[in-house]
Amino acid sequence: MPHALQQRVAGPVLTPSDDGYDDEVATFSTTLGHRPDVVVGATSVQDVVEAVRYARENGLHVAALATGHGGPPVRSGVLVGTRRLAGVDVDDATGVATIGAGARWGDVVAAAAPFGLAPIAGSSATVGVVGFLLGGGLGPFARSHGFSSDHLVSVTVVTGKGEVVEASQDDHPDLFWALRGGKWGLGIVTAVRLRLARMPELYAGSLFFDREHIETVLRGWLAWTADADAQTTTSAVVVRFPPLDVVPPPLRGRTALGLRVARPGDAATGEQVAAPLRALAPVLLDGLGPLPLDQVARIHNDPDRPGPSWTGGGLLTHADDDLATVWLDRVGPDADHPFVAVELRHVAGATAQDVPGGSAVSGRGAGFTFALVGLDPSTFADLPDVGWALLDALAPWVADELNPNFGGGLGPPRWSEATRARLDEVRRTYDLDGVL
Ligand SMILES: Cc1cc2nc3c(=O)[nH]c(=O)nc-3n(C[C@H](O)[C@H](O)[C@H](O)COP(=O)(O)OP(=O)(O)OC[C@H]3O[C@@H](n4cnc5c(N)ncnc54)[C@H](O)[C@@H]3O)c2cc1C
Repeated sequence: MPHALQQRVAGPVLTPSDDGYDDEVATFSTTLGHRPDVVVGATSVQDVVEAVRYARENGLHVAALATGHGGPPVRSGVLVGTRRLAGVDVDDATGVATIGAGARWGDVVAAAAPFGLAPIAGSSATVGVVGFLLGGGLGPFARSHGFSSDHLVSVTVVTGKGEVVEASQDDHPDLFWALRGGKWGLGIVTAVRLRLARMPELYAGSLFFDREHIETVLRGWLAWTADADAQTTTSAVVVRFPPLDVVPPPLRGRTALGLRVARPGDAATGEQVAAPLRALAPVLLDGLGPLPLDQVARIHNDPDRPGPSWTGGGLLTHADDDLATVWLDRVGPDADHPFVAVELRHVAGATAQDVPGGSAVSGRGAGFTFALVGLDPSTFADLPDVGWALLDALAPWVADELNPNFGGGLGPPRWSEATRARLDEVRRTYDLDGVL
């Protein structure tokens, strides 16, 4: 018998015993394992309204699923799948994109590039735009352009009361402030309007260095960041590449450090800025140069296929040579640790500058982010302890705030006390009954 909610929505309404339920709750990080009482594949704003109202009437919680890259597992209540709301419309004249809640960064990058426009996107083409923006979002243009949510123009959201609200700096400014980084419990977003950046040229990509040079490059890069060009965003990842055909031959089966660089602007200046990084050690694979805007995901080359994964991380106030010593000792190429990839990203620059009207973003004071990634399920039980031990060792550098997009398995996000109190107040205003 069809679920009672099916009479109210056009999209599929599925319970765990229905065919199609598993596909509807499937996630990119397959370890997430959502098992709600009912999942609604929303096809319109009205479907979302009905799903929220149904949850409210029946004393259930409601949550959203776009791509399944993150977020806490949903084990009961109503889950609203947004993947059918994935349209992207770019207005060349205003440089603003209207983006459906199910869109991924790759969709926006592809739609914007023909106009010479670029979203201030995340590192991965498959991550969902809305889940990312709700946490603030730090990507390959973090230093030149700040948090991605700084570029939001407005957000269309179904509140916990089941009402549709268009939040912007002028309308519902308190909710708009909260949606820029407050992440959870603020409504089910159905679309956003996002200002894109005009980027006639981009110099970006990555330089890979072999295992024996990792220490030299890591220390050299960190010293370089101390007075790095404000338009240039860099990060360093050490990866244990598997001996698989999908990995390019020079990296296949090796442990190597990838130094990613992204600088909007001309190639000659980019070359000049990157010259000291290229000179740190012999380069094993040089993939840094002028980059077409539709190839932005090649800067980080994040995995693009679903599978089991564990991530944990945090924010650092700064990073120096002493931090490099701790980092290399715990997760360097010669350390015995269970992670496939360990990453440090240099942020600061434009991320330190809040938007007019302010935002709930956590981590404006951070100088670096760090992330630990595990892909082997047989190690997942051990990863949190190893991560926590690293966190203890990094205590002198760990920031007070923890951005929700970066904590992962290493703990809940932390906002300043004032921001947290204001977020709670906004949640009480728009979701009095705690449906979200
Ligand atoms: C491979 C990978 C790369 C990443 N790279 C970056 C990066 O460069 N920078 C960065 O800042 N973060 C990054 N992240 C973290 C990522 O931004 C978060 O995990 C984000 O929440 C993913 O959103 P999603 O929609 O893809 O995933 P989902 O799992 O679908 O959603 C995650 C959460 O977002 C919320 N959400 C999603 N859609 C809606 C909606 N319509 N309304 C209300 N809430 C919603 C929900 O709370 C949900 O639990 C990365 C994660 C992975 C796995």
